[in-house]
Amino acid sequence: TTIVELRGIGKSYQTTPVVHALQPVDLTIEAGDWLAVVGPSGSGKSTLLNLLGLLDRPTQGRYVFAGVDVSTLGERERTALRGRRIGFVFQQFHLLPHRTAVENVALALLYTTPSAGQRTTAAVQALRRVGLGHRLHALPSTMSGGERQRVAIARALVGAPDLVLCDEPTGNLDSANAHAVLDVLNDLNADGVTLIVITHDPDVAARARSRVHIRDGSVTSADPRSAPSATTA
Ligand code: ADP
Ligand code: ADP
Repeated sequence: TTIVELRGIGKSYQTTPVVHALQPVDLTIEAGDWLAVVGPSGSGKSTLLNLLGLLDRPTQGRYVFAGVDVSTLGERERTALRGRRIGFVFQQFHLLPHRTAVENVALALLYTTPSAGQRTTAAVQALRRVGLGHRLHALPSTMSGGERQRVAIARALVGAPDLVLCDEPTGNLDSANAHAVLDVLNDLNADGVTLIVITHDPDVAARARSRVHIRDGSVTSADPRSAPSATTA
């Protein structure tokens, strides 16, 4: 199944002067892929992430997400699609400080799962998947950075999204914690979770199944063996 299909997707910011942040790109992601988008600061990574994650609209091109032509959707429908089908993991963990791990994860289901009991059950399962079954009732302040990021990953997963988008997921972690987080992403992908990881770190990119490079707003394919294909248009 194709999860992401970008056809000639580009983005310019209508500032003075205009910034061509993303040149038209074709990109296909199949279910089960793990793609790294690697590039330096200012290369257009956030712009691409915002488009992939339905957080922003392109200025050109066509985006079909999980079979839905996103350009035909209104704001409300896009938000609903994003909420149900895409999980986000950011560099800053964005956990609520006065909520336990299980509460932080369960909150992600607030608008989709009416039963609080079902939300908690799903949150416990998601935390077990990231190796935190023993930290369910811990507060973020008592957890290591790696544990906090694994809570954030559990929160991204709990709604069984079609795609998990990670923006510099190890950017705030020391190397031991970064490895633990990358091992979790590896296990999840082995289990069928589709991942896109945006990073400036080649070591993080090396863990993915395939890579594309982005530089000055242009995406270029890195390794030809990959199922995802990316070419500049
Ligand atoms: P990265 O995430 O790789 O650091 P960005 O996607 O944030 O790159 O930025 C790509 C280019 O687009 C940069 O030149 C940046 O200054 C510019 N840019 C990003 N967002 C905006 C915006 N809202 N308005 C104008 N220019 C922007
Ligand atoms: P990141 O570190 O995640 O790449 P940035 O510092 O590049 O984030 O950008 C932070 C925010 O500012 C983003 O929402 C981005 O779209 C916006 N932004 C980046 N560059 C510009 C710019 N030149 N003009 C206006 N907004 C910008």
